[in-house]
Amino acid sequence: MAEFALELQGLEKTYGAARAVDGIDLQVHTGEFLTLLGPSGCGKTTTLGLIAGFFPPTAGEIMLAGKPVAALPPFKRDIGVVFQDYALFPHMTVEQNVAFGLRMRRLPKAEIKTRVEEALSLVKLTGLGERKPLEMSGGQRQRVALARALVIRPTILLLDEPLSNLDLKLREDMRVEIARIQRKLGITTVFVTHDQGEALVMSDRIAVMNAGRIEQVGPPTDIYEHPASRFVAQFIGRMNFYQGRVMDDAGRIELVGGNVISGHDAQELAAGTTVHVAVRPERTRISKDMPAAGEAVMALKGRVSDVLFLGAAREVHVQYQDGRFGCVELPNNGAPVPVAAGDEVWMSADASCCHVLPA
Ligand code: ATP
Repeated sequence: MAEFALELQGLEKTYGAARAVDGIDLQVHTGEFLTLLGPSGCGKTTTLGLIAGFFPPTAGEIMLAGKPVAALPPFKRDIGVVFQDYALFPHMTVEQNVAFGLRMRRLPKAEIKTRVEEALSLVKLTGLGERKPLEMSGGQRQRVALARALVIRPTILLLDEPLSNLDLKLREDMRVEIARIQRKLGITTVFVTHDQGEALVMSDRIAVMNAGRIEQVGPPTDIYEHPASRFVAQFIGRMNFYQGRVMDDAGRIELVGGNVISGHDAQELAAGTTVHVAVRPERTRISKDMPAAGEAVMALKGRVSDVLFLGAAREVHVQYQDGRFGCVELPNNGAPVPVAAGDEVWMSADASCCHVLPA
């Protein structure tokens, strides 16, 4: 068996001068749920289209189960695709929609029947096979599209923003549901989304894309806890950024308007480099008193501009001495927020929660 279900090698797609996909190398393990995450226009859908074979790459190769497929048409690639708009056939019943790929492959009638029943049961639509897509809810249509893609037992499943047309509650349910089905079947899946929440909940690994390239690949916790660039740090979760400068070869950082820190989460950076020190709002403390001094804690002074009530949490916005703003998230544990608008305060965090990124 090939080591990777899918491998992208130097993949490029240009439209005139525009580089929609700008040299992607990526390996997806068999059975893995990998998400391509990034803002609108970063090249996610184009990458998925290249894998599916909807259009040819400008350069590079796509290996499916160890075999090059870039020159093959879509139907020879053994891939199941679910689109954002589901692309169901409206004149066909649910059963006919799901059976379509099997009929094209000329499977015996009895086997088609069994496999369609299995697929509908998997997505919890047993008994609805006679309906037409328009007689169903958005969530049910989404399940039909998933059943239609899975029924052919593809080597790889491609999902292009399949949840974006659903309302919030349903979207949250379907996240869990799709991840459950994927794990049950062990099917290698590439999922495209611009929604970081979906990516964090569903993925084994996330590839964060920016301007046609992959900025970082890793498990959700790694990407969240150790972002490799400012782009990744601000795209996933929320982040405060402070300016700083590397002081010496030991990597100590002098914060603008703050103290000196060491023991932070940083790659090796040369002395004199200007850096961003990134700290998550939920890892930041706030107090009226100056925190105990020392390089293991970063500390900055500011003034509270707003306190927001979010239900499960409260958010304190602070303006620093240089005029910029940052934010502290406090869980709502029932205790009152210890500061109020107008207070002069200290924001602090353990240096180990400070991600130092090149500016
Ligand atoms: P979204 O989340 O909005 O769907 P995306 O990350 O999927 O965005 P793509 O649709 O892959 O992004 O597009 C990447 C870039 O390539 C964009 O700048 C887009 O305008 C451009 N592009 C995509 N398809 C074409 C095309 N057929 N002709 C010209 N430019 C294109």
